[in-house]
Amino acid sequence: MSFLEYGQSELTAVLNELGLPKFQHAQIRRWVFARKCSGFDGMTDLSKQYRQKLSEKFGSVFQGTQMKHQRSDDSAEKILIEWRDGERVESVLLRDNRNHRTACISTQIGCAMGCKFCASGIDGFVRNLTRGEILEQLLRLNSLLPDGERLTHIVVMGIGEPLLNLENLLSALDDATSSGGLDISVRRVTISTVGLPAGIQKLAEKVAASGKEYKLAVSLHAPNDELRTQIIPQNQRCGIKNILRATDDYFRLTGRRVTFEYTLIDGVNDEREHVRQLVGLLKHRTAIVNIIPVNPVPELGFSTPPEQKIRQFVSGLTDNGIQVKVRFRKGDKIDAACGQLRRTSRENTGFNKNLSAN
Ligand code: SF4
Repeated sequence: MSFLEYGQSELTAVLNELGLPKFQHAQIRRWVFARKCSGFDGMTDLSKQYRQKLSEKFGSVFQGTQMKHQRSDDSAEKILIEWRDGERVESVLLRDNRNHRTACISTQIGCAMGCKFCASGIDGFVRNLTRGEILEQLLRLNSLLPDGERLTHIVVMGIGEPLLNLENLLSALDDATSSGGLDISVRRVTISTVGLPAGIQKLAEKVAASGKEYKLAVSLHAPNDELRTQIIPQNQRCGIKNILRATDDYFRLTGRRVTFEYTLIDGVNDEREHVRQLVGLLKHRTAIVNIIPVNPVPELGFSTPPEQKIRQFVSGLTDNGIQVKVRFRKGDKIDAACGQLRRTSRENTGFNKNLSAN
């Protein structure tokens, strides 16, 4: 099993078996999480004999191979990692002028949810990422930062539905948020879901019990079931009412205000009537709405609304007392719409294993 697949206590047991003294366990974790070291040979305060044992047992810290690294003008960087089974995943590093260094990570290869504006939905679901694969994305993105800088925020908004891979995600986030790990504040971790009521409930119970009350973001994208089902076919099974009931519980159990993501698509969900309906859903809730003008997906014919329309939509909500943020797109030049890099890369390289899942 690869190094990052082991949780903290399991790793302790393995290192004990290898005969490494206790004080060196913490040293190894420090090399991996704080000192951005991915090869055991580089852990120079361990004896040569121990470094060799670690290399024999695990090979290297990472199990994937970085196939691509793209950088855009607006401080977004994107990497594409290939795993041992040939499947690929993409992860993004975003920097802003508030010194936030945000990792956007994926939890699945492909996705079964089929959201109409999303390139990953086109390909369908392949498999869940393991705990180690999720953690490796974070460590690789952290390594892109110069010495003295480290990740400050995590958004689980890449490919996949995180609540369908909850155990592996929470296990990886344990290391990301622990003091001997990446030491990122729990309050700076956002889990974004398409809105699965049972999954939200389970997450609420788990994070309330562990004290790791992550921020929850729900992709709403439409203010009524008919339209939402067109955009997110999964909605047919759960419906907006049940999602809101679950998010009310999340707020009650964790005390954390839920964010509703609303991807604004020109001519689809950006009309006055949609504002009125959205106000009806949220005005009595402690919530925040993130408006995200859509990243165009050429295959699907969706385009970004004009600025004027975006402004009208936002003021329609704020005039009714709803707190709104507009999240401007980053990384357009690096195909940052979820799933696009993986698709583009596959098309260019003849990597087409998943096409049958469409
Ligand atoms: S937007 Fe997210 S949940 Fe929807 S298909 Fe894409 S990856 Fe899946």
